[in-house]
Amino acid sequence: MPRARCPICGRDVQVPEDVLPGEVLDHECGVSLEVVISDGKILLKPLEIGEDWGE
Ligand SMILES: [Zn+2]
Repeated sequence: MPRARCPICGRDVQVPEDVLPGEVLDHECGVSLEVVISDGKILLKPLEIGEDWGE
């Protein structure tokens, strides 16, 4: 099973074998992580809630 690291808490995240880019995984620390696949590696990007687009 592929593994990735949570950018928020630094712990391992279990990633399903057939994960697709753009899929959202919930981690045990409470953050939602969006799957990004780059160069065959799985990266996780925290989903920003209430993102600020301007001031
Ligand atoms: Zn985490």
